[in-house]
Amino acid sequence: MSRGSVVVVGAGAVGLGCALFLQADGWEVTLIDRGEPGQATSYGNAGILSVQSVTTLNSPETLKRLPSLLLSSTSPLRLRWRDLPATAPWLWAFARACAPAVAAQSSATQTALAREAATAWRILLQRCGGAERVSWPGWLKLAEGAGEVAELDRERRRLEAAGHRHAWLDAAGVAALEPGLGPRFAAGLWLEDDGQIDRPGELLRRFAARFVAAGGRVVVDEVRDLHATERAVAAVGGAATYRGDRAVLAAGPWSGPLARRLGARVPLVAERGYHLMLPQAAPLLARPIFDARHGFVLAPMGDALRLTWGAEIARLDAPPDERPIRGLGAEVRRLLPEAATTVAASWLGARPSTPDGLPVIAPAPRAPRVTLAYGHGHLGLTLGPLTGRLVADRLAGRPDPMPLEACAATRRPGRPTAVIFRKKGLARGRRSEL
Ligand SMILES: Cc1cc2nc3c(=O)[nH]c(=O)nc-3n(C[C@H](O)[C@H](O)[C@H](O)COP(=O)(O)OP(=O)(O)OC[C@H]3O[C@@H](n4cnc5c(N)ncnc54)[C@H](O)[C@@H]3O)c2cc1C
Repeated sequence: MSRGSVVVVGAGAVGLGCALFLQADGWEVTLIDRGEPGQATSYGNAGILSVQSVTTLNSPETLKRLPSLLLSSTSPLRLRWRDLPATAPWLWAFARACAPAVAAQSSATQTALAREAATAWRILLQRCGGAERVSWPGWLKLAEGAGEVAELDRERRRLEAAGHRHAWLDAAGVAALEPGLGPRFAAGLWLEDDGQIDRPGELLRRFAARFVAAGGRVVVDEVRDLHATERAVAAVGGAATYRGDRAVLAAGPWSGPLARRLGARVPLVAERGYHLMLPQAAPLLARPIFDARHGFVLAPMGDALRLTWGAEIARLDAPPDERPIRGLGAEVRRLLPEAATTVAASWLGARPSTPDGLPVIAPAPRAPRVTLAYGHGHLGLTLGPLTGRLVADRLAGRPDPMPLEACAATRRPGRPTAVIFRKKGLARGRRSEL
């Protein structure tokens, strides 16, 4: 029996995750995207299922390094200075979210979400097929100098505290695990349970086809507004208005204006990143690797390596600047002496990033019939299916399987939701469970 109808806006990893879990739960789902499902931000990422993620970008260490990161010409963190009037409020909130208490809450929530992500992925793979595109070889992070080794060691300690499987490798250990790498690394941190998707855009295309085969409706249209009454919702598109009992807003980095009109307060910015596809005559890597010095990822995908790089805070529609990523060719060859660096394709995408690194997964403050599901930043591919599962639980009235206060749409990033006010012996506010 149908539970009712849901309109999902946005068909990236998050919107598709929501559509599929809602469909499995008995909802009639209409999935609206102005383009083809899974072909925006979720198309060109590094494909890593970062289920062992234990940190977010906002941290006291990042704040300390921020001036040097922003002023360095080689840093992956870049600010498009002429976009500052548009991005300054986000940057201010980000600086506040680097406070130790907020960073700790972000890390704890992110760790809890990522830990559950693999199960949600496996459920969707079982239902939709495509398991041949997903492997679980782990993710290898590599350090050269003392500073990078110390940074990796901090992550190692967090992994240990979280109980995640990992291995600390010396130079010989790195060479044994990935024989194609040049002998330049002092240490490696192998996150043994992370997964990898070979060309995520292809897999998501398959998920969309499975959704349609099971009775779901995919509509190509641009949603310009979302209205809700006490009993129904309406998504106003360019071609038609789509009505339902409930709606989910999962428009990735484009969610901001619609979400703000529905009362969300969490600032959203485009944290842009690039990829280059480098075809290879033979496989050179068994798993994705991260070069800590230059901040790039190399991920094996089919007969190519996908080089991803950059966290560029800019307007969504600013023109691309591929010069820095194209300048990494020499570093790639130093790292993998056998690598060919001819570029077959290039891409720019925008992570939908919040200041505290956490997504919004919550009812819209002014329209509880609309559920907000956006802002997944660096982990949207990893967390897409889990978000769908959490949204389906909410819509069915089942209790949240984990505390989601830190993902509220009403939070003010920069202030932990766990703040306890004490005045004349009176305690207000709730302590987070995390
Ligand atoms: C270089 C790079 C590397 C990355 N690597 C990883 C990684 O290895 N692992 C990981 O987990 N994450 C990674 N990410 C992050 C991840 O790609 C994103 O967090 C994720 O794709 C966001 O998914 P989404 O569904 O929210 O957004 P999207 O994939 O952008 O989907 C949003 C959809 O909404 C549609 N839309 C927007 N507005 C409207 C509208 N008004 N009407 C109709 N449709 C609309 C868009 O067309 C789009 O299809 C990376 C990101 C980048 C840039």
